Amino acid sequence: MRIGMGYDIHRLAPGRTLVLGGVTIPFEKGLLGHSDADVLVHAVCDALLGAAGLGDIGMHFPDNDLKYKDINSLQLLSQSLDLVRRSGYQLQNVDATLIAEQPRLAPYRIGMQLNLARTLQVDSGLVNIKATTSEGLGVIGRGEAIAAMSVVLVE
Ligand code: MG
Repeated sequence: MRIGMGYDIHRLAPGRTLVLGGVTIPFEKGLLGHSDADVLVHAVCDALLGAAGLGDIGMHFPDNDLKYKDINSLQLLSQSLDLVRRSGYQLQNVDATLIAEQPRLAPYRIGMQLNLARTLQVDSGLVNIKATTSEGLGVIGRGEAIAAMSVVLVE
């Protein structure tokens, strides 16, 4: 058994669509990035790759590669899963936490969980998504960014 952890943060900006866990969420701002900037999926990709000893998301999907411009990050997750499987590992479970001051994410939690489970080809009970705020503190508390953390177990 091996464990991996992932962390990511993206800046919130006007004129962008907010996508978290593959769910489009109505909000006045979205996350800035080369891809769709889905911070939750990026953290899970890193945890998954880390668990298998395969480096990180930036190594496999460089953010200066036009191929990944505005890409749906679930595609990156699917490709990460392929890499992990080819290394002989099987995903056991995923846990993740989103840290956002706004918007309220609870209504979208199940949708994100289902998207991740479908992409990772596991039962939705093996994917757990949590959301918390930063209690008004720091860049996240001021609504300038959203962050995500994840752990993944593989066998
Ligand atoms: Mg990222």
